Amino acid sequence: MTAIPDVKPAAGEVVIPTSAEEAVDAFGDGSGVTLVGGGTIVLADMNYGRIAPSRVVLLGRAGLAGIARDRSQVTIGAGTSVQDLIGLAAPLGPCAANVADIEIRLQGTVGGNLCAGAGGEVPRGDLQGAFLALGATARSAGDDGIGTEPLEEFLTRRDERLLLDVSFEEPAAGAFASLSRPHTHDYTALAVSGVRTPGGELRLAATGVGSWGQRLPSAEAAAADPEQAGRAALGDVDLRDDALASAWYREHTLPILVQRVLVRLEEAT
Ligand SMILES: Cc1cc2nc3c(=O)[nH]c(=O)nc-3n(C[C@H](O)[C@H](O)[C@H](O)COP(=O)(O)OP(=O)(O)OC[C@H]3O[C@@H](n4cnc5c(N)ncnc54)[C@H](O)[C@@H]3O)c2cc1C
Repeated sequence: MTAIPDVKPAAGEVVIPTSAEEAVDAFGDGSGVTLVGGGTIVLADMNYGRIAPSRVVLLGRAGLAGIARDRSQVTIGAGTSVQDLIGLAAPLGPCAANVADIEIRLQGTVGGNLCAGAGGEVPRGDLQGAFLALGATARSAGDDGIGTEPLEEFLTRRDERLLLDVSFEEPAAGAFASLSRPHTHDYTALAVSGVRTPGGELRLAATGVGSWGQRLPSAEAAAADPEQAGRAALGDVDLRDDALASAWYREHTLPILVQRVLVRLEEAT
């Protein structure tokens, strides 16, 4: 582990772990630690003085990148770049391809995307929707050691944990639909991911509908009728205005995206 004590201006101490174990040790219980994955969000926060951490842990050399398969189980390391997900099946591959542009996707990581704080001006953390629909579990470290939990639970406390990897069972079918704008540095105003599991369960999740990705249980319950499911999805979310779209616009477009995903899932099954 390399300690660089006097990097300025934002950080008191910078630590560069060279293994997952060193990263877990460096993170400890997380107090006063700021993690840097690809840094596309957090380095700007430091440069603009929005945060001034006493300890920065750079994860780029911690060996957390990689996609592993064990039969139908897929495990994706937190250090994997967003770009590396693009070849994967829907909803994950198309969702990753929809994140920003290639420069950001090459630099940005799965961990940074899933753990991004609420953006305020723009939604971020697009991969949350795809991984929630996949029913992913998150393995992470923190004050109680290393543990695995459903991603939904992890997201509620993601700012207290070091994410190590996410795992899910390959779905029988997946689909992704989003609002898109023709702009290179695009953020996604609204997106819906859907999955049909090998056991026949249907799961839907959305991003751009609140502080972080949300499952859409009412829409799932009404999935046999895509139009009704689209309307039902509005009961699952807390829509807001931001720099990309108004709550009104999202209210009118979320039902359409839900319908599209359900139709695509039906076609793919
Ligand atoms: C021009 C531009 C366009 C963008 N467009 C999109 C978009 O379309 N969709 C989208 O979702 N995002 C977008 N982003 C935001 C961002 O680039 C991506 O979300 C990216 O994947 C973040 O990953 P990162 O590794 O760079 O995060 P970082 O900046 O390294 O970290 C982000 C947050 O996650 C924490 N963190 C990082 N790794 C871990 C870990 N392993 N465990 C726990 N916490 C961790 C950090 O401490 C920080 O709080 C865009 C950014 C820019 C600049």
